[in-house]
Amino acid sequence: MAAAEKRLLALAGFVNAHSHAFQRALRGRAAGGDFWAWRELMLAEAERQTPATVRAAYAAVYGEMRAAGYTAVGEFHYLGFDEALAAVDAAREASIEPTLLLAAYARGGLPRFRQESAAAYLRQVEELRGRGIRVGVAPHSVRACPVEWLEELGRYAAAEALPLHVHADEQPREIEECLGEHGVRPIELLARSGCLGPHATVVHATHASDAELDLLRDAGARVCVCPTTEANLGDGFAPVAALCERGIGICIGSDSNVRIDPLEELRELEGIARRAAGRRNVVSVGSLLCFGSDEGAAALGIDSWPDVLVDLDHPSLLGVAEGDALNALVFGCGADVFS
Ligand SMILES: [Zn+2]
Repeated sequence: MAAAEKRLLALAGFVNAHSHAFQRALRGRAAGGDFWAWRELMLAEAERQTPATVRAAYAAVYGEMRAAGYTAVGEFHYLGFDEALAAVDAAREASIEPTLLLAAYARGGLPRFRQESAAAYLRQVEELRGRGIRVGVAPHSVRACPVEWLEELGRYAAAEALPLHVHADEQPREIEECLGEHGVRPIELLARSGCLGPHATVVHATHASDAELDLLRDAGARVCVCPTTEANLGDGFAPVAALCERGIGICIGSDSNVRIDPLEELRELEGIARRAAGRRNVVSVGSLLCFGSDEGAAALGIDSWPDVLVDLDHPSLLGVAEGDALNALVFGCGADVFS
């Protein structure tokens, strides 16, 4: 007797708008210590990468993402130019749609992260574009890029209609340093430098002030929240309700790849919002799924990416009425529910 056909539900694929694939190697290894101690281990892992290690390890990480329901990824890359090419090859091998968010790094970090000038950085961006690779401009952070770089990159991204991604307000120390150097907070500096706009995505914004959130709203910029990584690193709570009240677009990223599961990112995002608000349904399931797919695609500048199939006969969905499947998917399933 033939086995009954599986009941499948097609959904837009999830979009991972912020990944550092090499950090997957730290899973299970970097317990103990604070954010800055974790960063030291991360830097050691970054130091040993070569195009060959990137090519092999990233293909495995992207394979894990693909199996978990992510069908597009924004790789926020700061390991060097040849490694960027290897990352894109790895994504193509794993059948995940890549956007290479090439990081601009003027100071700090490791020598391999840095370019000698903003012009040298933009030459790398042009070279990647010339090879047909989808790219985004990514000043790493206000810590790594001086104002002149931010201004030049902001101008270029706007003129070329490219996505611009930048880390900001992840940790209080970064804000204190920015206030010390510039007298303003990181998102205020980004606004002043011309880096915000509808094409811009600020990664984290965990400790953004109300005034900074107003700036994001006024610019039409998005925020990428990375809930499992932010939890793991003890960053704090994403200001979910404050973002939603302002109508700021939210997308998700697996960031350090300590966990690769879009449903868990969305569940954590809504869990944070519920705990903070003391009520349920701060973000609707429909909006959460939109954060997980359409908003991420818009942040990466892509307009088509593969669907995923939900296995409606998966044990996690046993006894769930079909009309409740999306609620159960977000609140009761892991990524193994995808066929
Ligand atoms: Zn990051």
